[in-house]
Amino acid sequence: MHSFGIAGAGLLGRLLAWRLARTGAQAQVFDAAAGPAPAFDAQGPAAFSAAGMLSPLAERDHADARVASLGWRSIALWRDIVAALPAPRPFFAERGSLLVAHRGDLPSAQRVLARLAGETRAAPEALDTAALARLEPALPPPAHAWLLPGEAQIDPLATLAALHAAAEGVAWHWRRPVAQALPGRLQFEGGDWAEFDCVIDVRGLGAAQSLPLRGVRGETVWLHAPGHGLTRPVRLVHPRHRVYLVPRPDDLLFLGATEIESEDRSPVSLKSAVELMSAAHSVLPVLAEARILRLDRHLRPALPDHLPRTVHEDGLLRINGLFRHGWLMAPALVQDALALLRQEVVA
Ligand SMILES: Cc1cc2nc3c(=O)[nH]c(=O)nc-3n(C[C@H](O)[C@H](O)[C@H](O)COP(=O)(O)OP(=O)(O)OC[C@H]3O[C@@H](n4cnc5c(N)ncnc54)[C@H](O)[C@@H]3O)c2cc1C
Repeated sequence: MHSFGIAGAGLLGRLLAWRLARTGAQAQVFDAAAGPAPAFDAQGPAAFSAAGMLSPLAERDHADARVASLGWRSIALWRDIVAALPAPRPFFAERGSLLVAHRGDLPSAQRVLARLAGETRAAPEALDTAALARLEPALPPPAHAWLLPGEAQIDPLATLAALHAAAEGVAWHWRRPVAQALPGRLQFEGGDWAEFDCVIDVRGLGAAQSLPLRGVRGETVWLHAPGHGLTRPVRLVHPRHRVYLVPRPDDLLFLGATEIESEDRSPVSLKSAVELMSAAHSVLPVLAEARILRLDRHLRPALPDHLPRTVHEDGLLRINGLFRHGWLMAPALVQDALALLRQEVVA
């Protein structure tokens, strides 16, 4: 039986631990955080702060075809992962998403659509008022709307909790920051070492001494909006932010997100909060009476090319740079990484 030392219990760390546990491997996970639950202090996993949109088509607005391709594969993998988790299963839905624009923003929307035309697996479908009303009866018709078919969404909090709970036999070590991840061994802050057949470094931004990573700040608003009625994520063409409204179970609506070139982890600014909330209110006026549950922020771990990177050598695997697409790409990246490890184990 092979032993794995995983540095980082965020999205990749939990997915890897769960997958390895199912193969009967011996896995230990080490994380700097105090425990498995979210603290919303911008320090633990960025994954807790994410919207959980699985948007291979919409992300072609700025991302490479490789991101979309990993994304389409991952949507199918998430379907199987969620089905394999014990009940109550995390919320996961494949209903597509909407792109909407106010009257004056049609030229901007057309520029977005031109970029999405690079995607071969799916294309935006223009919706007239009747078609939109059939899909989202609670949404007051915006001037322009398109369905982005095939897109999906997942509940990040419930999924991270479920992967942690279902990873049988995995040893989780909290408040155990890793200083160095080297082939076959981890060094912890404080100086002690532990040895494994294979070390997996998935510390997100915490691995910045090993990879040219930078953090990209994202701010979000969590709303309680009973009766809001939305059934799928809605993106608004907006001059400054990629604004989206994501419905979650229990009448929650998640508004995101700013994308700011800064590693500032301090609380959400007034300007960002006002811009996100007024944009959301312009799409769904019923939000006037929504209650603000949380203003959250975190840093997306990005490499210079904004693409994910898997680095593999004997006894060491690093996966990082998931940027704004971690939920979209993680299952496919983990599947490919485990295939690499199987070759190493067999060799
Ligand atoms: C506002 C926002 C919205 C987002 N929305 C989406 C979305 O809708 N769809 C999507 O696909 N993606 C989204 N993302 C991106 C996604 O959250 C990230 O790409 C993903 O979380 C990266 O996963 P990871 O496992 O690499 O890192 P993380 O999830 O950040 O996990 C890293 C882990 O390493 C631990 N760690 C750090 N340093 C150390 C250390 N020295 N020793 C031990 N452990 C350490 C951390 O505590 C953490 O648990 C969003 C991100 C943000 C911030």
